[in-house]
Amino acid sequence: MTFITRFAPSPTGPLHLGHAYSALLAHDMARDAAGQFLLRIDDLDQSRARAGWEEQIYEDLHWLGITWDGAVRKQSAHFDAYRATLDQLRDMGLTYECICTRRDIEAAANAPQEGVPQFGPDGRVYPGTCRYANHMAQDATCTRLNMEKACTIALPLTFTESGPLYAGDHTLNTEILMTRVGDVVLSRRNMAASYHLSVVLDDAATQVSHVIRGADLFEATAIHVLLQALLKLPTPHYHHHDLIRDAAGKRLAKRDDARAIAKYRAEGASPADIRAMVGL
Ligand code: GLU
Repeated sequence: MTFITRFAPSPTGPLHLGHAYSALLAHDMARDAAGQFLLRIDDLDQSRARAGWEEQIYEDLHWLGITWDGAVRKQSAHFDAYRATLDQLRDMGLTYECICTRRDIEAAANAPQEGVPQFGPDGRVYPGTCRYANHMAQDATCTRLNMEKACTIALPLTFTESGPLYAGDHTLNTEILMTRVGDVVLSRRNMAASYHLSVVLDDAATQVSHVIRGADLFEATAIHVLLQALLKLPTPHYHHHDLIRDAAGKRLAKRDDARAIAKYRAEGASPADIRAMVGL
């Protein structure tokens, strides 16, 4: 099997040690397997993406000694493809328009059903208020997946994970998808697609065989595997790695400029120092 993996940062801030770990790990695994390492710029959210951060990503990766295969793929060049797939899912009767605001969802969540988790991989599990309301697209805040209908496809689905925290085969059945995932957002008024829909399409379009990314995205994998099944796309192999944490055990965030690779570099650190800091 050809090994194709990718690093997919969003150009919304500086790359920090956590990104360095993710990029180096995926890069090393691809090179060890004589496979390909791709670079994708996840600039889906045009209100937050900045050309300056994108430039900084290239610079940081070059400095770390990371080389990627082929051209860089930018999500912003594929909005039409995302919209076409959304139309396809709509034609399959698998989506609906939702007019709920965040506040509406919070209010509905104030009367939780016992035993039903309130938070899933996409934030609050949507209570389904608009599922059969037939709202018009022009009134909607977002388009959602109708999970009830999605679950009529052949279930269970499975995927294989090799990361340290969740290694093994994972099964997705109706109960997990309905109660833990729910009617996730597929696109918003001002965005061509949600993160979930876009990554599934990008990974498939670039024939990614191994998704290597942080453990914070493990839960979202259920959504991705379901979308792959609905769209008849192959499911890659998954590897969710540990997150790099600060001294207090908190995971690093984009705003955590103190850990920015560029800052370490300016202070005289070498790429080998960065590798040592993240344990590679
Ligand atoms: N763009 C996402 C991020 O920066 C990663 C997407 C993925 O690896 O699936 O968190």
